Amino acid sequence: MTPPGPPETRSTCAYCGVGCGVLLRADTAGGLAVRGDPDHPSNFGRLCSKGTNLGETVDLDGRLTHPLYHGTQIDWDSALQTVADKFSAAIAEHGPDSVAFYVSGQLLTEDYYIANKLMKGFIGSANIDTNSRLCMASTVAGHKRAFGTDTVPGTYEDLEQADLVVLTGSNLAWCHPVLYQRIVAAKAARPSMKIVVIDPRRTATCDGADMHLPLKPGSDVALFNGLLAAIAQQGARDDTFAQHVDGFDPALAAARACDLGVTGLDPALMQRFFDLWIGTEKVVTVFSQGVNQSSSGSDKVNAILNCHLATGRIGRPGMGPFSVTGQPNAMGGREVGGLANTLACHMDIGNPDHRQALRQFWDARAMPETAGLKAVEMFQAVASGQIKALWIMHTNPAVTMPDADAVKAAIAGCDFVVCSDITPQTDTVRLAHMLLPAAAWGEKSGTVTNSDRTISRQRTVLPAPGQARPDWAQLAEVGRRMGWHAAFDYTTPSEIFREYAALSGIAGGFGLDFDISGLADISDAAYDALAPTRWPVSAGRTGGRFFGDGRFFTPSGRARMLALTHRAPAARLQPRFPLRLNTGRIRDQWHTMTRTAKSPRLSSHLAEPFLELHPSDAAVRGITPSALVEVTTPHGRAILRALITDRVQPGDIFAPMHWTGENAPSARIDTLIAPVTDPISGQPESKAAAARIAPF
Ligand code: SF4
Repeated sequence: MTPPGPPETRSTCAYCGVGCGVLLRADTAGGLAVRGDPDHPSNFGRLCSKGTNLGETVDLDGRLTHPLYHGTQIDWDSALQTVADKFSAAIAEHGPDSVAFYVSGQLLTEDYYIANKLMKGFIGSANIDTNSRLCMASTVAGHKRAFGTDTVPGTYEDLEQADLVVLTGSNLAWCHPVLYQRIVAAKAARPSMKIVVIDPRRTATCDGADMHLPLKPGSDVALFNGLLAAIAQQGARDDTFAQHVDGFDPALAAARACDLGVTGLDPALMQRFFDLWIGTEKVVTVFSQGVNQSSSGSDKVNAILNCHLATGRIGRPGMGPFSVTGQPNAMGGREVGGLANTLACHMDIGNPDHRQALRQFWDARAMPETAGLKAVEMFQAVASGQIKALWIMHTNPAVTMPDADAVKAAIAGCDFVVCSDITPQTDTVRLAHMLLPAAAWGEKSGTVTNSDRTISRQRTVLPAPGQARPDWAQLAEVGRRMGWHAAFDYTTPSEIFREYAALSGIAGGFGLDFDISGLADISDAAYDALAPTRWPVSAGRTGGRFFGDGRFFTPSGRARMLALTHRAPAARLQPRFPLRLNTGRIRDQWHTMTRTAKSPRLSSHLAEPFLELHPSDAAVRGITPSALVEVTTPHGRAILRALITDRVQPGDIFAPMHWTGENAPSARIDTLIAPVTDPISGQPESKAAAARIAPF
């Protein structure tokens, strides 16, 4: 029932890639009432703790309200002219690859589009990367290798229609809670439905599962190779769908050569999993950061895709591989080409026809022909002095990048750093020369795309404080001041969206998946009222599933299975560092807590940084419950509270990644992580450091 009062505004939650719809009602004192939108297809009224408590996070304490240059308040005109001049000077003296943007899955699609257009189309460099590199770049690489495009084949309904949901490398109960609630509700209504969790830890997600496979960290390729071999052995290959798939024989040969012992799993348990998977046609395999954040993340993704392609279990109701993304607009960033190795609308930077089409559409000054610097490379280039001017938007790399102390030092040493953010109080913005106050969630307007390709509106319901501005407006003004007036002559986000939708028609003309050209003529009023819409949206297609018809986006039109071998995590365990450190999220915090830490209710769940360790590892070191523990890796050191639990296996430890130098200087977990990346995706290995622990 609608509560009494002024009308509610429909918007989308600020946090994870589930993309829940919210109904917002602001009061005159700056407060905000929030409830789940019963009509939104992501959540049908449900919200998790983070979404429910959004209203506690919108106060203006600690907000950045005016541009600051070297700590002194300046006006927007001077601030943006300084940014334009500094970037122009660096480009003139050192070339376009001497500047970089590091952006975020918190940006709206319209912001992302303008940032990408400015860097790739006009500055002429591909040095724009996003914190989504830390989240799901391995999935992008895996999708492109198998499908030809970065396409999520299925929809959220598949999770409810499946007879078996496999959750691998995903603590869905905490990290995508509403999706987890949907699965649990489907199982309650249909108890024959099965849930399997594959995770080194016995997470909260295991509580509702029928089976838990506590595999050794990093052994996912071996496990899914074992499944592929079992598929072949049991004659479960789909011979009809096989005509749409290349590479089965070499993939199977590699799978059969794989040593399943590296998984550490009981062979009987593994066989029960194989039998269940093979014997259940309607199976969805959900994967997330436990798969992606690995030096073999792309191979892990393809090992999963191999099994679905071999059995033809893709693109039909209740079946398929399913990547769930971390951030509210990680998918939108992928679509606009926010990664250093992609172009807008899923076009390819290495394809001259795509580059030419984009150049023509934008009337672009220059287009890079090769990929730019991926996140880890970018900050290494900052450290070496190659990057002279850096613009960071809505993200905190001094905390979240691997080898975070080195990243912090690199930013501190850069000639010119701009940060667009909502606060002057993060580890990163404190290092910036120029701070630009950005409009926050609830104050800005645009679109985001969730994990099942549904585009939803975020709408303005609160006034932006002081002089805060939307990011697209900041970027467009800098573009104009760098001399590209016509290309950046926008006054509303709806104009940007129309241009973007029109551009997607060109991608569709190349036979690519991302096509929302059906929205290219959307009026301002229709944009304001846009209901959640799953792409594609074009004359020929509207957003259902992909690949059930056996048509893929590779040059041959067939999917590709890959021959994959197990690779252990890059950091080898050794006598000095005998433990495997995993990092991740907790239920009620988001990223580096800029917003969620404002909520007393959210902060009461797990109030301080901690280290999960097994009772046997604690006993042998004399570590008692709640004692302080020193965690050391070759890259850094942290002090954390001991949480002794058999939810982690002997030899494994786990620590959350949220705490920062602002609130817990001794608990910046990414200072412990090596800057090692997947060679295909460039995604860092954030879950498999070699560490030692001792009482502090
Ligand atoms: Fe927000 Fe994600 Fe929770 Fe939904 S599941 S309310 S999108 S944090």
